[in-house]
Amino acid sequence: STATRSSLKIGLLPADGIGHEVIPAARDAILALGSTIPKPEFISLNAGFEYFTKKGVALPEESIDVLKNECDCALFGAVSSPSKKVVGYSSPIVALRKILDLYANIRPVVSVAPTPGEKPSVDLVVVRENTECLYVKQEEITPGPNGREARATRLITERASRRIGTMAFDIALNRPRKLLTIIHKSNVLSITDGLFRETVRAVPANAEPAGKYDEVTIAEQLVDSAVYKLFRDPQEFDVMVAPNLYGDILSDAAAALVGSLGLIPSINTGDSFVMGEPVHGSAPDIAGKGIANPLASIRSAALMLRQLGYSDGANRIDKAVDEVIREGRVLTPDLGGSSKTQEVTDEVLKRI
Ligand code: ATP
Ligand code: MG
Repeated sequence: STATRSSLKIGLLPADGIGHEVIPAARDAILALGSTIPKPEFISLNAGFEYFTKKGVALPEESIDVLKNECDCALFGAVSSPSKKVVGYSSPIVALRKILDLYANIRPVVSVAPTPGEKPSVDLVVVRENTECLYVKQEEITPGPNGREARATRLITERASRRIGTMAFDIALNRPRKLLTIIHKSNVLSITDGLFRETVRAVPANAEPAGKYDEVTIAEQLVDSAVYKLFRDPQEFDVMVAPNLYGDILSDAAAALVGSLGLIPSINTGDSFVMGEPVHGSAPDIAGKGIANPLASIRSAALMLRQLGYSDGANRIDKAVDEVIREGRVLTPDLGGSSKTQEVTDEVLKRI
């Protein structure tokens, strides 16, 4: 619970590429909040492909132990994925999601309105199931009469669908529109997507206290038409909940509606741990140049704080970021500006 914390222990895992440039910006934004939140303590931790090439391990035991036993939350930068399969390497972010049971990936996609107080043209949240679906990675290839045959298992369980559904209902309940759209393809995949849809739909009936989600409007949309609607009329959506694969695709697609990847935050969360993570990757093409956009990471810090119950702190960060974007004077090149990571960060810190 939030009330009992005297300090906030935050693991920092910049990992690869621009992660080293943007995670310090997120840390500084949290520090700038002063006494709005419990005193933050940062613990730097190793992870990533760069670490793997030096030490032969992508996620050292020590990082896992510290996260599990000492940290309240964490900020993760980005990992480079090697272009070919590298023996012994597996993605630390995938491992962390499993180890810390971070079963939900939450990505708000919000455009900045031209004037404060005005309704943004895009304001939605994608809630993506983070542990199963096609990403259980059970694939096989066998010889067959038509050449090689490749198969992948798609796993949908009631438990995972129920807990992601419950989280999505909770998020919808706390937003003004209270509209939850279930994304699926159960006209074709009637068993797997059918189970997901049915289980999410059953969340309100099993809620405690009874009637908890009465105010939430439930809608559904087939994933293909959801993508179409997302581009034609994004205002149709408030909260979208989806199985892993559809959620992955939808959240990147939604990101395209508001410009640079360098703006979109996310959190990976479960029932007992939150990890903020910008949606972008390690951006090897610009790494080391000091021009990466730090705003996605700074917003991820805000999202993490909000999930932990510190909405005042989160709001202050979000407001500062919105002002910097709206003003348009100090921006990185991905947003058409010519400023450096540090200059944009300083501009945000000043406003916090
Ligand atoms: P990875 O394998 O780590 O995902 P990637 O090559 O896919 O790396 P991304 O990080 O996904 O790279 O970025 C895609 C494009 O968006 C790149 O051209 C990158 O420079 C740009 N980009 C991503 N994040 C940012 C950011 N924070 N600031 C500026 N540009 C960014
Ligand atoms: Mg990428």
